[in-house]
Amino acid sequence: MSLTDHLVARIRQDGPMSVADYMAECLLHPTQGYYTTRDPLGTKGDFTTAPEISQIFGEVIGLSLAQSWMDQGRPAPFTLCELGPGRGTLMTDILRATRAVPGFHESAQVVLIEASPVLKQVQAETLKDYAPTWIDSVAALPDQPLLLVANEFFDALPIRQFLREGDGWCERLVGERGGSLLFGRGPNGPQVALSDRLTETKDGDLVELCAAAIPILTVMASRIASHGGAALIVDYGDWHSLGDTLQALQNHEHTDPLAAPGQADLTAHVDFEPLAVATRACGCRHTRLTPQGVFLERLGITARAQTLAKALSGSELDSLIAAHRRLTHPDEMGNLFKVMGLFPAYAAPPPGLEP
Ligand code: SAH
Repeated sequence: MSLTDHLVARIRQDGPMSVADYMAECLLHPTQGYYTTRDPLGTKGDFTTAPEISQIFGEVIGLSLAQSWMDQGRPAPFTLCELGPGRGTLMTDILRATRAVPGFHESAQVVLIEASPVLKQVQAETLKDYAPTWIDSVAALPDQPLLLVANEFFDALPIRQFLREGDGWCERLVGERGGSLLFGRGPNGPQVALSDRLTETKDGDLVELCAAAIPILTVMASRIASHGGAALIVDYGDWHSLGDTLQALQNHEHTDPLAAPGQADLTAHVDFEPLAVATRACGCRHTRLTPQGVFLERLGITARAQTLAKALSGSELDSLIAAHRRLTHPDEMGNLFKVMGLFPAYAAPPPGLEP
């Protein structure tokens, strides 16, 4: 049975499903989910991420994390965690860049949280020198200082969508007709979680909610508040979104999110405001939301690129220059992607970010 047939059967039995349930099935269905069945990254895959564009991204992130660790008195042991590590490229670059930081590697326990069995295997190979362990959820993070990075992780979490109708909201749902999937809308009703969005939206506007992100943030922020550490969340999005940001990518092209369930990457813009609210509720601090380009420039990405450039020429040099531009320029990833840091009340914010 194809994933489309499975979804149609589920809808016929239980009625239309939320966009969140649709995303969860498409991405993580045990045998036919997008992430469960493939390595989607890189030029042969469906999309490319910052660490896959250039090593300089992970290197400067590693130095920021190591500086937070030093600022907080070099606690040992500590957890060095990545959420959704993809191919393990970012963690490898972080670890290579911090090799010369005395005591950092000896004190770090590398912990990965990854839903895809295929990518877990790739990570095991890439990171075999660092003896990582995998845990199923943030709830299993050890009770000790935590340095955490999440790049393009929160955008893969399922979102629900709601259309404003008068003073109420209709949930956007996925239904079926004649075996084909289509969008529809559920009944109008109040939504407590959206009460603060009534003032800045009008009839017909669409807003999104990512409930799955909150319990994850709560655990991260609680660990950091009580044991110290820092977290860097990097993703595309803004304080909060307005409009439909659900997107499907296949072979680096945008496609219809309902066209090929399980075959295309599905993501949505990350709303950072609810993440910030959840962070504060745990007694943890967060930084201002900062464009990726600004963050990387403050961490010295240009100096790092110039150092690397000295050893390069021809096409290798051209691709380093292109990668630097792609990561930092406002017309490329520099502005669309944002960074928010978490840090304990008694400590300085992570380098590159402002309180
Ligand atoms: N951070 C990597 C990969 C980003 S792609 C990079 O920047 O290159 C998203 C990653 O999150 C993939 O590794 C995917 O398998 C993982 N992922 C998606 N949903 C997840 C979930 N619910 N739990 C754990 N990992 C998840």
